[in-house]
Amino acid sequence: MRIDLHTHSRASDGTQSPEELVRAAAAADLDVLALTDHDTAEGWDEAALTAAELGVAFVPGMEISTRYDGHGVHLLAYLPDPGHPALVEELDRVLDGRNERMPLMLERLRGLGIDIVQDDVERVAGDAVAAGRPHVADALVELGVVSDRSEAFRRYLSAGRPAYANRYAAPLERMLRIVDEAGGVSVIAHPWGRHGLEEPDEQAFAELAQAGLAGLEVDHQDHDAAARGRLRAIARNLGLVVTGSSDHHGTGKVDHELGCNTTAPEELDRLLDLARQASARSGRATPTVVGR
Ligand code: AMP
Ligand code: ZN
Ligand code: FE
Ligand code: FE
Repeated sequence: MRIDLHTHSRASDGTQSPEELVRAAAAADLDVLALTDHDTAEGWDEAALTAAELGVAFVPGMEISTRYDGHGVHLLAYLPDPGHPALVEELDRVLDGRNERMPLMLERLRGLGIDIVQDDVERVAGDAVAAGRPHVADALVELGVVSDRSEAFRRYLSAGRPAYANRYAAPLERMLRIVDEAGGVSVIAHPWGRHGLEEPDEQAFAELAQAGLAGLEVDHQDHDAAARGRLRAIARNLGLVVTGSSDHHGTGKVDHELGCNTTAPEELDRLLDLARQASARSGRATPTVVGR
């Protein structure tokens, strides 16, 4: 049983349509796939249809941009009602924040002598619900300024680089409550990824578990073996679900192939049990898992 619980489509910053992604998942011998686009449920219906057709189990989710203790934290929310008003409101704020900072980033790039305009980004963003830095990166590739997304982030777009601009992210503890009210379950994505610090620490995870956190994404390409070992021990101590995933972005991220990390079936069962409980408590119309 091969289970991949974190992937992106062109509804955010992946390079495949939801249908193409599910077809690729079937070709990669995945039994269960979650689609977790950034801050949107846009791709769910298309992915669910293709999954039903191909006999792949499908878990709808999203990866929400939140903030905790001054750091950006990506929160994977599985099976929330995407129509829950407080969730819609927060996601709109995040998406608006992405749109609002775009002119500033482009102005900074132009200040560096790069001839780039909004249209260049919108052309490559295509179906995306909101254009983000990966789309700016794609536009820079198209313009011949850099050779791939990684180079664009390294030179211009990562925090601290000259074209970076900050944007709104929802307070993590508020988002944990909203996801629960929406009948979904929350898992912190790549908790020790990117910034390279082992933060949040166990004490902070314990508080977040009290605030409704269900799991930690332990097996992720951003974590080395030592980090995985420590996160797994913390999850065990706190009774949190352990997940693993590819964080696949099509050709948009190298070394994140579908199924490169996976989630154990018993951990998925625990997660789905918690989702059923949250759904029942919430009284909301939560989405169904296809094929389970
Ligand atoms: P944004 O949502 O516009 O702030 O862009 C953040 C997204 O960019 C992340 O969620 C990743 O998918 C992507 N990203 C961040 N760093 C890199 C990188 N070094 N190379 C490629 N993609 C990246
Ligand atoms: Zn992404
Ligand atoms: Fe992420
Ligand atoms: Fe992701």
